[in-house]
Amino acid sequence: EIEIRGLHKAFGEHEVLRGIDLEVARGEVVCVIGPSGSGKSTLLRCVNLLEEPTAGQVFVGGTEVTDLDVDIDAVRRRIGMVFQQFNLFPHVTVEENLTLPQRRVLRRGKAEAVRVARENLARVGLAEKADAYPAQLSGGQQQRVAIARALAMGPELMLFDEPTSALDPELVGDVLAVMRMLAADGMTMMVVTHEMSFAREVADRVVFMDGGRIVEEGPAEQVVGAPRHERTRHFLTRIL
Ligand code: ATP
Ligand code: MG
Repeated sequence: EIEIRGLHKAFGEHEVLRGIDLEVARGEVVCVIGPSGSGKSTLLRCVNLLEEPTAGQVFVGGTEVTDLDVDIDAVRRRIGMVFQQFNLFPHVTVEENLTLPQRRVLRRGKAEAVRVARENLARVGLAEKADAYPAQLSGGQQQRVAIARALAMGPELMLFDEPTSALDPELVGDVLAVMRMLAADGMTMMVVTHEMSFAREVADRVVFMDGGRIVEEGPAEQVVGAPRHERTRHFLTRIL
């Protein structure tokens, strides 16, 4: 589903990604871990072209998205992204947060947009909050709305950048439960997270990045449970 080949990204002189090769198969869940500044967010942002790679190729569902002739909007429509900050529209209701992008970007009619919105709010357990405003929800509920909003666009794959890092600890579980459900439904997912229990239970593979490179990757029980590299071990002892 995602294929990344020889990906480099520099900001001026600063090389942030130094040759990333990674494949994510359809239906696979890959967790990306690593220290602050290692390039995790930049890697995700290169997949949906929020950042333009300096070199290398990215394919999504067989389409080279790094091709200069590609329709960037069409690519982004196929990819859902959820950030640490939920970025909901504050002045409209939860339901409108889900219907507006469908109407504007996908040109869906109102009735269909509402139907898809309600279906996806139900999926994340928030059907009864359709008429609430974002500020009336807890952080965990807001993040679930953000996930539902991404799902309402019918993405082929989902990118998550530390989706639970801004949440109070007691709210993390509900968001991870929604992500577990998505994984079980067969969604292709790349997840930057420091939630090692999630990585162990849900990820098909864990990728450890440091200094803009993939240092180690493999099944969670190997990378998290029995890391081979000193840098991975050092990182894990600091966060666990
Ligand atoms: P964190 O765990 O703190 O989120 P990260 O692994 O996601 O870190 P990135 O956000 O990808 O790291 O950043 C990697 C490096 O790239 C950092 O040194 C950062 O300062 C730099 N960087 C990221 N975005 C930009 C930008 N738009 N312009 C200049 N430098 C940037
Ligand atoms: Mg980041």
